[in-house]
Amino acid sequence: MVEAFAVASGKGGTGKTTSTLALGLALAEDYDVTVVDADTGMANLLFHAGLADVDVTLHDLLLADTDAAVADAVYDRHGMRVVPCGTSLSDFRAANPDRLRDVVAELAADTDVLLLDSPATLASRDAVLPVVLADRTVLVVEPTIPAISDALKVQEYAASYGTDVAGVLFNRVTDGDAVDRVAAKADQYFEGPTLAAVPEDDAARAARRAGEPLLAHAPDSDAAAAYREAADALDVHASDADAVADRFRSAVVPDQP
Ligand code: ADP
Ligand code: MG
Repeated sequence: MVEAFAVASGKGGTGKTTSTLALGLALAEDYDVTVVDADTGMANLLFHAGLADVDVTLHDLLLADTDAAVADAVYDRHGMRVVPCGTSLSDFRAANPDRLRDVVAELAADTDVLLLDSPATLASRDAVLPVVLADRTVLVVEPTIPAISDALKVQEYAASYGTDVAGVLFNRVTDGDAVDRVAAKADQYFEGPTLAAVPEDDAARAARRAGEPLLAHAPDSDAAAAYREAADALDVHASDADAVADRFRSAVVPDQP
């Protein structure tokens, strides 16, 4: 069984990578979890996961003339399989984003939960690919009106590709009252539930500096507790791994949603 989630937002810097690793660690208590840095242009998962020095990354798998095997870019960390992506601009230019479909298909064959740390979906045509491939999308949203408006556009894209919204993860929440008001509005417009409201928390920045996922670095922090709540609310569905892999291999990104 496998379910693939895109962890996405309209713009960058909303906490997608922090959230991907936090959900991954929480879900790894019950499932075999594989986390992929599919944000190939602005990759930063390697820094969050202590993988900045590894040799082979997703970039190597996306080159046309690669002799790297998918397994070469998979690292066992914190009870998960982690596929980081490199940060070189020339590798990004040389990489063929379409090959991500085959890489993800191969990874899907051997895991329960696949989390795709996704690019800012509204940034470019290729950026939407993880949302196209995923079964469901987790929207990481700062609790502001512009961020919600961006996330609604991502939801619209996702729907046009047949991808459901797993829920909304409010991140960097500073004022509990404000998020209650925003969440009430969000429930009207988003097709999925509010999964959690993750507070602005120094522990998240400290974890990033330490090169460790938040749930490993500060498991007792308020932010970590909120992510565990979000992971519980996800309610993972089981799909047939072969059917999912076939779907990934044949996915086409249309020009317009
Ligand atoms: P993205 O992947 O969407 O670009 P990141 O997960 O890398 O975003 O987060 C961007 C920055 O914000 C990082 O420095 C991260 O440590 C910080 N950050 C993310 N979530 C929180 C939070 N809840 N509280 C404080 N800082 C956060
Ligand atoms: Mg990121």
